[in-house]
Amino acid sequence: MDPASGSGSNDPNPDESPSEAPGAALPSRYEAQKRRDWNTFLQYLRNHKPPLTLARCSGAHVIEFLRYLDQFGKTKVHVPGCPHFGCPSPPGPCACPLKQAWGSLDALIGRLRAAYEESGGEPEANPFGARAVRIYLREVKDGQAKARGIPYEKKKRKRPTTVAEVESSGRGGGSAVATTSKTVPSMTRSQMDEKKMVLKTFLSLY
Ligand SMILES: [Zn+2]
Repeated sequence: MDPASGSGSNDPNPDESPSEAPGAALPSRYEAQKRRDWNTFLQYLRNHKPPLTLARCSGAHVIEFLRYLDQFGKTKVHVPGCPHFGCPSPPGPCACPLKQAWGSLDALIGRLRAAYEESGGEPEANPFGARAVRIYLREVKDGQAKARGIPYEKKKRKRPTTVAEVESSGRGGGSAVATTSKTVPSMTRSQMDEKKMVLKTFLSLY
């Protein structure tokens, strides 16, 4: 059994594909996983120092949780100094850390976000839906794409920027985002700043 020696064009890493089935197909399995994730998170809160309650939990805490989970990850993510950086199928081992694959984190956040609201949390206060978390996930996705040699531009699909997403900040400035003109800027200025901050946090992992 050696799937890695196949065509070479496929990514042999099973970690890569979000194994999460669409909720409709396997509801009970999804529910079970969601419950497990939720319990894990609650336990994380209980062990948190300084003490942290769900009510006081912010997007930053959620990001902290995701970073904590990296120690249990199984996806090799090459650091920029590694000779295998950007190489999809490295010829040998290296000492780069294992992390949680972006797809796993993304699916996890989706489940926790649902669990939070099912447990009575207000959607507006949902820390798993925080913009900082979304930006962090995007950073992880882009960073892993680069580190693992997945063509960056190709991978970045041109998906329609939802206006709700752009305007969710509710801050002032140009209220009407240029929705009708050719390209909707994928990021507002404040998002850029936040992104830089998150990137810094992310890079400090290395
Ligand atoms: Zn490496």
